[in-house]
Amino acid sequence: MFTRHTDGLRLLSVHAHPDDESSKGAATLARYAAEGVDVLVATCTGGERGSVLNPAMDRPEVRADLARVRREEMAAAREILGVRQRFLGFVDSGMPGPDEPLPEGCFAAEPVELAAAPLVALIREFRPQVVITYDETGGYPHPDHVMTHRVTVAAVEAAAGPELHPELGEPWQVSKLYYHLALSRAWFQALHEGMTERGVPSEMGELLAGWPDTPPALATTTRIACAEQFAVRDAAMLAHATQVQPGVAFMAHPRDIEREVWPTEDYHLARSLVPEAGAAAGVARAGGIETDLFAGLRAGAEAGAG
Ligand SMILES: [Zn+2]
Repeated sequence: MFTRHTDGLRLLSVHAHPDDESSKGAATLARYAAEGVDVLVATCTGGERGSVLNPAMDRPEVRADLARVRREEMAAAREILGVRQRFLGFVDSGMPGPDEPLPEGCFAAEPVELAAAPLVALIREFRPQVVITYDETGGYPHPDHVMTHRVTVAAVEAAAGPELHPELGEPWQVSKLYYHLALSRAWFQALHEGMTERGVPSEMGELLAGWPDTPPALATTTRIACAEQFAVRDAAMLAHATQVQPGVAFMAHPRDIEREVWPTEDYHLARSLVPEAGAAAGVARAGGIETDLFAGLRAGAEAGAG
């Protein structure tokens, strides 16, 4: 099903909803895809319970057929990023209020082991050396994002063992599992300061003032230089027209300032089977920080089979 690129490097990024791949780590995906890495996005749900966040798209016919509209948006974003994409077929859980139960049959209400099965099959079919997903908080408290983390961790584990789901394909051991560190306080702070210093009005001050003064839970282990792909990232985001309002929120800050003050997307290496990354030959590191998701994996990419 999947044609193999010559160097055999494969990257799988698992997301909760269509649009998440474009708002978290999209420039990284575009960079690796442009390099010839085989990049696949797995989208757990169809985003059926999402809101229409762009007034220009908030029309009755769009709201009435949101699942189809979002599939079309996803197809456009995938083309722009130059990646492949699969829906895993779960139903969006929506964002229930504090005392509201999860809707019946939604993704976050599924047992983790059961919900992991389609991803186990996909991992065994695609055989990625590197997988990216959210940390255990989900990055933000949407039940589908937390569930995406749980399901990805469970699927990476189950995919490697011959005893689990033998009907879902030959076992495959993922070598590295990363968590996104996108949209961190430090990122907002750097952009806010960069804009303020240049006399550009910043709307991020209010957000930062209300941000709890806690240190980041996860260390940055990896920074991927991808400023050249910010324009591709932005085009992919705008392709999710129901979810993004041009010129507002994330789309508001000047891109030249972003390229200058924060030209990377950042990750936490949560699990690795690569022996002592810093000592391995050919490993890309700068000041103890990895600069390549495939660090330690570029020689003999197929060696991780089994
Ligand atoms: Zn989402």
